[in-house]
Order: sequence, then structure tokens, then C-alpha cells
Amino acid sequence: MLIPVRCFTCGSLVGDKYEDFKARVETGEDPSKVLDSLGVKRYCCRRMLLSAFEIVDYEIPYYEAIERRRKELLGS
Ligand SMILES: [Zn+2]
Repeated sequence: MLIPVRCFTCGSLVGDKYEDFKARVETGEDPSKVLDSLGVKRYCCRRMLLSAFEIVDYEIPYYEAIERRRKELLGS
């Protein structure tokens, strides 16, 4: 799923902060401190970034496997 542009609850802009948030958390920073420094104060907005999950990274291997299987079936 793509990262939502705005908070579902209050409508505040959160999509622009996701890349920065993700990069800083991956370097080992505390997510709560990163959110504080990005100015994401409300818990409705904080959950938008904390719970964001890029499912496409997990779906791609399945599409690749389906494509390999399709080629196997067509090749034989
Ligand atoms: Zn919000």
C-alpha cells in the first residue's frame, strides 16, 4: 500500500515526512524522537507513519514467481 498523503483522522499532511522518517529509523534513531523532531505531535498522525507498511516489497516476489511458473508451463 502506498503511504497515505494525509492523516485519516485529522487530515494533517503526513506523506511528505515518511521518507525522512523511514531513513532516520533505519539508521537506528528512536521512532518517537524522530516523530517529535518532524513535528508530528498528534497520536492519530503518529500512527500513520508508525504503522505504514510498504506491502509492494512483499508482493513483488509473488508476481515474479507467477511469471516464472507461467513461462515454465508455456515452455513445456
Ligand atoms: Zn492526525
